[in-house]
Amino acid sequence: MPLQPWRKGTVTRIEEETWNTRRFWVKVAEVDSFDFLPGQFVTLDLPIHEKPNRRWRSYSIASWPDGTNEFELLIVLLDGGLGTTYLFNEVSVGSELMLRGPQGVFTLPPALEQELYFICTGTGIAPFRSMLHHIERHNIPHRGLNLIFGTRSKRDLLYFDELRALEERLPDFRFYPTLSREEWEGCCGYVHPVYEERIRARAHGLDTKHPAHFYLCGWKAMVDEAKERIIKLGYDKKDVTLELYG
Ligand SMILES: Cc1cc2nc3c(=O)[nH]c(=O)nc-3n(C[C@H](O)[C@H](O)[C@H](O)COP(=O)(O)OP(=O)(O)OC[C@H]3O[C@@H](n4cnc5c(N)ncnc54)[C@H](O)[C@@H]3O)c2cc1C
Repeated sequence: MPLQPWRKGTVTRIEEETWNTRRFWVKVAEVDSFDFLPGQFVTLDLPIHEKPNRRWRSYSIASWPDGTNEFELLIVLLDGGLGTTYLFNEVSVGSELMLRGPQGVFTLPPALEQELYFICTGTGIAPFRSMLHHIERHNIPHRGLNLIFGTRSKRDLLYFDELRALEERLPDFRFYPTLSREEWEGCCGYVHPVYEERIRARAHGLDTKHPAHFYLCGWKAMVDEAKERIIKLGYDKKDVTLELYG
């Protein structure tokens, strides 16, 4: 897809998802349909610096393509972060945002022929929410979908009820919300042992790996570690697709 022009978007709705994370809905009036592939992102040009490239902040599209000109972003407020402080303090319903997109190649393959592992922390869940709803909506045949989502505490869980409900509806989809700083009835600790155990269980104790593809999304520390561990399990670099938030 060629580089898209800058377009004006209008914020149509804002909701608190958690104590520090908000959902922003943006409408692009100049197009009838804002077309994108699940997993892609948009870049916002925020008035936070004179130099254009110091103003740009990218956000994964958290909604799925539905033929409308509106989409959703999921944004966490970062302590001292220039862009997110602007978005949380200055942007309200009716605000205009300059945006470019969709962009990016963090997208699903044409056919889902292998089991997929979606591994993320924090707002890195956004592109996977888009992909999973897209798969359900279009009834796309798949071999098994695993969403391993890491965050600190229950109060940080994102789209929790929605994804639990999707797990009930979408065959072969397993959701593993994992808390690193609170004991609860679900998975505890970091995300890594969660997918490692699942992969070992799928190999049925044999010394072979089952065909799988891994999508990693979030901040560098988690993404780098996951990639290294997946390769140690016997997978190849080409079995891993990543989206680095920074
Ligand atoms: C392709 C892409 C998609 C993205 N999608 C999303 C999204 O859907 N939702 C979202 O909230 N963010 C997303 N981001 C991150 C986003 O672009 C900004 O970097 C983020 O919002 C911080 O911007 P800021 O201006 O507030 O912080 P800045 O003023 O840019 O300063 C932040 C500084 O802290 C570091 N930092 C920021 N957050 C963290 C963190 N959690 N852990 C460790 N270091 C951190 C940054 O590297 C930087 O050095 C995405 C980034 C990319 C590249």
